[in-house]
Amino acid sequence: MSNTPQNKNRDLENINELEEFGDDHVASNFETPLRADAFEMDDDLKMEMIAKHFKEIMHILGMDLSDDSLKGTPNRVAKMYVKEVFSGLNPKNKPQPKLFENKYKYSQMLVEKDITFYSHCEHHFVPIYGKAHVAYISSGKVIGLSKINRIVQYYSKRPQVQERLTVQIAEELKEVMQTEDVAVVMDANHMCVSSRGVGDTNSRTGTSYFGGKFNDEATRREFLDYINSPNNS
Ligand SMILES: [Zn+2]
Repeated sequence: MSNTPQNKNRDLENINELEEFGDDHVASNFETPLRADAFEMDDDLKMEMIAKHFKEIMHILGMDLSDDSLKGTPNRVAKMYVKEVFSGLNPKNKPQPKLFENKYKYSQMLVEKDITFYSHCEHHFVPIYGKAHVAYISSGKVIGLSKINRIVQYYSKRPQVQERLTVQIAEELKEVMQTEDVAVVMDANHMCVSSRGVGDTNSRTGTSYFGGKFNDEATRREFLDYINSPNNS
């Protein structure tokens, strides 16, 4: 039945819609869409299968896999996907940050700015990279600044859309710090925009999340002024 011309047209329409959906970089959900059986296969098996399929993609593109320069590529890509750039899909790699008592009763905001991140656009599987700026106001606990960095890196190492990445970092920080008072601003280059499609090499994309006290004009302004101020070196 799916072969009737009517249904065929509907499928084509769907493909066009999906294409547009991807090019507009719309997220369907703030949770990364993962299947329930996502980690039943272990890393070794995942790498073996990705290498096999990537080799096939290269072969279809017409590349000569017997060339010394290309031979190792399928295995390298597979390892890079599973162990590096998409390692943040697996909850076992999630950082477990230690919290410290806020002995000094410091109740002002803590900001870590200019955290470099590298992620991948889930619509095109090419890099998104840029800077993240993260702030929170302590509710009694403080976190090591390098741990904020680790949280940013963990969620970056997934196929992503920038809006979701921003929200996932904010939600994680809220949970870890037991406070609503968190802010995340991300400023990024999308290779899928700069190197293909519309080919705009200069545009950058900004996303933000302001929770709790960061919805107050003055608090938000203090944070934004700080991240926009030139670095003293
Ligand atoms: Zn993209």
